[in-house]
Amino acid sequence: MGDLPAIAGGHPVRTQYLVFGSPAIGEEEIEEVSQSMRSGWVGTGPKVKKFEEMFRAFKNCRHAVAVSSCTAALHLSLLVLEIKPGDEVITTPLTFAATANCIIHAGAKPVFADVDMMTMNINPVEVEKKISAKTKAMIPVHFAGRPCDMDALMGLGRTFDIRVIEDAAHAIESTYKGKPIGTFGDLGCFSFYVTKNITTVEGGMVVTDQDELARQIKSLALHGLTQDAWQRFSDEGFRHYQVVCAGFKYNMTDIQASIGIHQLKKVEAGAQRRKEIWEIYHQSFKDLPLILPSPSPPDQRHAYHLYTPLLDLDRLRCTRDEFLQALHKENIGAGIHYVALHLHPFYQKTFGYRVGEFPRAEFISHRIFSLPFSAKLTHQDVEDVIQAVKKILAYYRN
Ligand SMILES: *Cc1c(COP(=O)(O)O)cnc(C)c1O
Repeated sequence: MGDLPAIAGGHPVRTQYLVFGSPAIGEEEIEEVSQSMRSGWVGTGPKVKKFEEMFRAFKNCRHAVAVSSCTAALHLSLLVLEIKPGDEVITTPLTFAATANCIIHAGAKPVFADVDMMTMNINPVEVEKKISAKTKAMIPVHFAGRPCDMDALMGLGRTFDIRVIEDAAHAIESTYKGKPIGTFGDLGCFSFYVTKNITTVEGGMVVTDQDELARQIKSLALHGLTQDAWQRFSDEGFRHYQVVCAGFKYNMTDIQASIGIHQLKKVEAGAQRRKEIWEIYHQSFKDLPLILPSPSPPDQRHAYHLYTPLLDLDRLRCTRDEFLQALHKENIGAGIHYVALHLHPFYQKTFGYRVGEFPRAEFISHRIFSLPFSAKLTHQDVEDVIQAVKKILAYYRN
């Protein structure tokens, strides 16, 4: 009985549920938040400014503008590049809905281009096939933290005069040939959502080297008011502001920045820990009916955001969803990143996308799963995940 998975009547590997993507938050963050709460300045203020400056230095670029989410960051990036109705923006189908939805919010059409099987990133050859007279921008997503082929993509951008917005939600620590990811395109967007490599609970950042784009993003994120309007209630005296466009409410608060300041200080430690976990998983899963994710080549740095094996379904008598249900019964949470967007009803209905259109994204979609992969995991947590995966795969192997 000992070796039966819980789903078939055996004992679960764990008694306490291991939640997927639980953040590593320390006392420093808690103390900093408390200090902001006591100070009374909880809105957008000096800590946001400090967090922006830290992030700018970390990315070695001219501007970093903090916003309320990566979704907001992507939306504003499209707007400042003047993407509008009738335009097309090329992106990967293997991404979170926010990437495509922002394109739609800007009034444009998301045009998917299939991914590369090994990197799971958008394939530049497929991008080129999708370029039309209406193509104004592309949004490459650095999937799981692995950099996209930036030489090829930026080359296409130059050749066809297409702007580039990097969706770097997974890729805070990533570099490509020594240059930080997020600084290749006109704009780079980052997420500090709960499950991301660093968190502010909710939050995002736009980086850019272009002064005018940064200025517009700042204004659009705060109702379209003139720059530094957040200081209008500070102790520097009364200030007039002017409304220069119909902006949004996408600003970050000092409460969020309080968390971010300390999270960013620990970014390397977290990355190191996830790299260790990656290597332990990789060694432990080598001889199983799995196709393991591949690391980046030596001239690139992978941010190790997700650990995403594919189930080798030909060697198993279960579906991916049955496998995930079996993991759940072992008290281990897992995720799916992602069910390709062209398989969702909204994009099919609205844009006519069909099953079979992006075969590689689809192949991955049916087999992929994400194991718990937070820097917070203990040695025992990692061992439990490995034991559960091995037990379940032994049971379903044919
Ligand atoms: C998380 C995520 C987003 C959205 O980030 P939010 O900060 O939650 O808005 C966008 N793109 C990708 C690829 C993501 O994983």
